[in-house]
Amino acid sequence: AEAVVEAVSIGTAAAQPGGSYWTLDPIDGTKGFLRNAHYAIALGLIQDGEVVLGVLGCPNMTIDGGSSGAIFVGSGGAAWQAALDSATIEQDARPIRVDDPAALASARFCESVESGHSDQGQSAEIAGLLGIDTEPFRIDSQCKYGAVARGDASIYLRLPTRADYVEKIWDHAAGKFVVECAGGVVSDVTGKPLDFSIGDRLAGNSGVIATSGRFHDEVVAAVQSVLG
Ligand code: AMP
Ligand code: MG
Repeated sequence: AEAVVEAVSIGTAAAQPGGSYWTLDPIDGTKGFLRNAHYAIALGLIQDGEVVLGVLGCPNMTIDGGSSGAIFVGSGGAAWQAALDSATIEQDARPIRVDDPAALASARFCESVESGHSDQGQSAEIAGLLGIDTEPFRIDSQCKYGAVARGDASIYLRLPTRADYVEKIWDHAAGKFVVECAGGVVSDVTGKPLDFSIGDRLAGNSGVIATSGRFHDEVVAAVQSVLG
């Protein structure tokens, strides 16, 4: 136990800029985990302030309704998924891409199940502004990034519910990289890229917007007009 605690503490290196380190969320989406719903094991590799590898284990997601669990990998500009129950994950991994609809109105939203983690009322207003009337797909944890990366949804909104909440790198590093590697775009609610160079918090950012890409700027503008 002592060795593990010591090893985990190496992570305090993340408080300094530069260098190479892993960021791990062993149970991302604790509330989903407790509800027996969705959660993720999220591992990201950060090199000199940039995420360069993302892996998401999502034990309760399925692939085409079949497998028990899905694993997502983003690396070197490409993204894959494989069944988590596969004995040969490396051979079974298949490339994934975002679904980038031509018309915004046919895009699907995803957001937190937990209204305390993202403002669902404002999301609904933004959807209205964008002409989207399908119900949002609600799922816990960084599984949302997996859902966007493989095209289950095209827009993920995480709208701050409190001005003083600062997002943690382990809640976003792996997922945002999987989405980017699958062709999507990720920013904060003002359109700024997420800044992983300043320690273990995303202190330079507020909230998250992930999209399939084509209409990212339009979504940011709609978010800005609703958040004021
Ligand atoms: P989700 O399932 O997307 O709601 O995300 C779960 C993650 O949200 C947890 O792992 C927490 O680290 C993070 N979290 C906890 N409180 C908040 C909050 N007030 N705003 C945003 N994220 C939060
Ligand atoms: Mg978490």
